[in-house]
Amino acid sequence: MVKQTIQIFARVKPTKKSPSVYSVDEDERAGSSLEFLVPRDLADGFVNNKKENYRFRFQKVFDQTAKQEEIFEHIAKPVADSVLAGYNGTIFAYGQTGSGKTFTITGGAERYSDRGIIPRTLSYLYQHFNQDSGKIYTTQISYLEIYNEVGYDLLDPRHEAPRLEDLPKVSIMEDNDQNIHLRNLSLQQSASEEEALNLLFLGDTNRIIAETPMNQASTRSHCIFTIHVCSREPGSATLRRSKLHLVDLAGSERVAKSGMEGQLLTEAKYINLSLHYLEQVIIALSEKNRSHIPYRNSMMTSVLRDSLGGNCMTTMIATLSVEKRNVDESIATCRFAQRVALIKNEAQLNEELDPALMINRLKKEVQSLRDELAILIGEQREDQLTEDDIHKLEEQVKAFLDDPDPEVTLQLGPNMRKIHHCFSLLKVMVQDMLPSGGGAGDCCSPSPSVVPDHDISPPSAELKKLKDMLRQRDNEISILVSMLKKEKKKVQEYMTQLAQLSNGHLQSKSSVQSSSAVLTEESGGKGESSSPYGLRRQGPALSMGRQEAFDIFRRDHEDNVTIDDNKALLKQRFAEAKALGEQVNGARNRINELKKQLEQRRMQRAAHAVIGVPVAQEEPDPVEERLCGQIEEEKKSYKNTFGRLKGLRTEIEHLQLLLDRAKVKLQRDFSEWWDQEEAQLQELRSEGGATGRSAGRSSQQPTAPRPTRDLSLSTTSPSSSIPLTGDQQTDADILAFIRARHSLLSRTGQIQNESF
Ligand code: ADP
Ligand code: MG
Repeated sequence: MVKQTIQIFARVKPTKKSPSVYSVDEDERAGSSLEFLVPRDLADGFVNNKKENYRFRFQKVFDQTAKQEEIFEHIAKPVADSVLAGYNGTIFAYGQTGSGKTFTITGGAERYSDRGIIPRTLSYLYQHFNQDSGKIYTTQISYLEIYNEVGYDLLDPRHEAPRLEDLPKVSIMEDNDQNIHLRNLSLQQSASEEEALNLLFLGDTNRIIAETPMNQASTRSHCIFTIHVCSREPGSATLRRSKLHLVDLAGSERVAKSGMEGQLLTEAKYINLSLHYLEQVIIALSEKNRSHIPYRNSMMTSVLRDSLGGNCMTTMIATLSVEKRNVDESIATCRFAQRVALIKNEAQLNEELDPALMINRLKKEVQSLRDELAILIGEQREDQLTEDDIHKLEEQVKAFLDDPDPEVTLQLGPNMRKIHHCFSLLKVMVQDMLPSGGGAGDCCSPSPSVVPDHDISPPSAELKKLKDMLRQRDNEISILVSMLKKEKKKVQEYMTQLAQLSNGHLQSKSSVQSSSAVLTEESGGKGESSSPYGLRRQGPALSMGRQEAFDIFRRDHEDNVTIDDNKALLKQRFAEAKALGEQVNGARNRINELKKQLEQRRMQRAAHAVIGVPVAQEEPDPVEERLCGQIEEEKKSYKNTFGRLKGLRTEIEHLQLLLDRAKVKLQRDFSEWWDQEEAQLQELRSEGGATGRSAGRSSQQPTAPRPTRDLSLSTTSPSSSIPLTGDQQTDADILAFIRARHSLLSRTGQIQNESF
């Protein structure tokens, strides 16, 4: 956004008389000033009988000798540049009749050098359009004349208007966003400077023809020549639209001075009313805190609303006639200009998206995405699912629902339409199954006990199944979590015990030695790597005793056979898959080889044909046929093997899952058993503690473990020699280790004179 006050310039019309009423001071840096030195006789008559000197500041004052070229360079060119950049611009000329407004805006009719702002600006703009190949410009032109509060389209090509009233009338419309639209004002395309100048000429001709000495429309009407510029970069959907209003206002002379009556007075009244409202708008704008700006009071202020305090860079040229009799009007013009200079505008870059271009671009994108999709899914995407598709989907969904296998999937391929359709089918089915009353809640449904079996609706059965599954999963999770916690706790305890041991907190020396030996063996033995299952990989490793116990536990576990069977099967399947993979590769290589041979054969035949060796072109080549046949065969076997390989993969994945599940269960069972053993041991110890621990070693022996597990120690176990630490946890571990060790040794027949 560019905030800028309206720029004001003054232009003094040349006069043959030697004027002494004004002087221009150009020395000042901030701009130039114009001073009127009012002769006493004049001051008495018209202006003010006290003041003689009037000084006004302008951005620049162009004195009588200023050329049109200079005016364009200083005033119009910067505005034209901002229009090219996408901002709105307005230049309006204000002054009494005959002061040079038309000469400044449009130019003199005689000399080429007298061309005014409009033709020079057009020339400048088109020159720019032609030079700037980076953008595409389009230009439209409108030319509006407002006379007696009625707008006329000066560019209507159908009218060689003998009278102003015969021109198409333009009216103002305001939309909901308070934007002004001019109905009936034609926007003429102009592709070149020449066309634009022709339009200017047409408009001016209409203006002049319509003017009679009676109405003197040129004096009493406002003319607004508008250049609409639209630019965009090739391929971009962003447009910049800007407009440049070049305004030749009606004469600003006062009705009091003109002293006219009748028709002319009406006109004068309108002129003045119109300019009066312009003044009102400008006063309102120049005052702070004025919320209401009376733009609507006249057509001219409505049309120029943006130019006055809005989205526009606006420039005013005060045209002055400095002959003695015009001094008062010139002073009035300057006063007006000073007020205008207070108005702040906020010009914005007028960028917008062209919907048509956007649609085109999106259409292209959609098409290319469709093409891409067709390549990816290998078929052209239809706009709608066919009857056949819908029928197939219904069958697929039915088969899916009927299949008792919980792992059955609905294979729909990469087609969102099909997926959506299946979902809506499923939704309809689910809705059909829900009780039609809906929302009544459980209290109203019959209790399950009184419902006959066949009446149980599928959703509730399904729900029960799901709930069971959920409970099962919850159980599994809590078991895993508690296993983890226990393991962690144990490690911590071992560590503290170890610390205690090394600090000599034990009762007997021999116990210290033995138990530390055991502990060292436990903690340093198999170490971290002994953890057999993924679940334990992250956590602390099992102690050696526990590990040994676990190994035995596993061996005797009822699931172990299944695990081993599955492991063996998995191994076998892996081997099969490997073999099949090799077969597939082999088939692929053979196909490639055969293809090569076929190509060679074809090239040979082609070469023979070229060098004139008679080749029966029509007859089929037996070698080629054989090769083709072989390729077909290999392809079949490739497909076949590949299919088997895929099937095998599914099986392998499934087996792996089964194995994992069994392992988790085994681990959980073991943990349970282990904890139970520990608890029993503790019980025993507390009993033993009551009878006496004077020897410092326990003579206790664990009771037989769970009868289902064949892990009981032989009753002849030399338990009396077991060195115990006196610490429950450690002793439990030691005993478990010993029992496991004993059991192991007894199985391998090594148990003879084991002593501790
Ligand atoms: P307005 O439009 O303000 O009523 P015009 O532009 O019609 O005034 O000017 C009145 C007359 O003065 C015209 O004949 C015009 O050619 C002449 N004139 C105005 N300004 C100049 C100028 N700067 N140099 C030469 N002639 C001028
Ligand atoms: Mg004029």
